[in-house]
Amino acid sequence: MKTKKVGSAGRFGPRYGTKTKKIVKKIESRMKKERVCPYCERTALKRVAAGIWYCKKCKTKFAGAAYFPKSD
Ligand SMILES: [Zn+2]
Repeated sequence: MKTKKVGSAGRFGPRYGTKTKKIVKKIESRMKKERVCPYCERTALKRVAAGIWYCKKCKTKFAGAAYFPKSD
C-alpha cells in the first residue's frame, strides 16, 4: 500500500507514526539512488546484508554502511 505522504514507507500501514515513516522514505529513496560501485563506478551494487555490498559487474564484495554503500 502506498500513501501520498510517506511513499514507499506506506507498506508499514498505520503503524510506527508518520514521522518514523518519513525518515524511512528518505532513507529508501536514497537507497535506490546510491547504487554506484566505488571500485568500477557502475551502478551494479546489491546490498547482500546490513553493511555488506556486492557489485555485480566487478564481483567485489565489501563492507559499507548498513543502508548505503558508504557512510557520510
Ligand atoms: Zn564494481
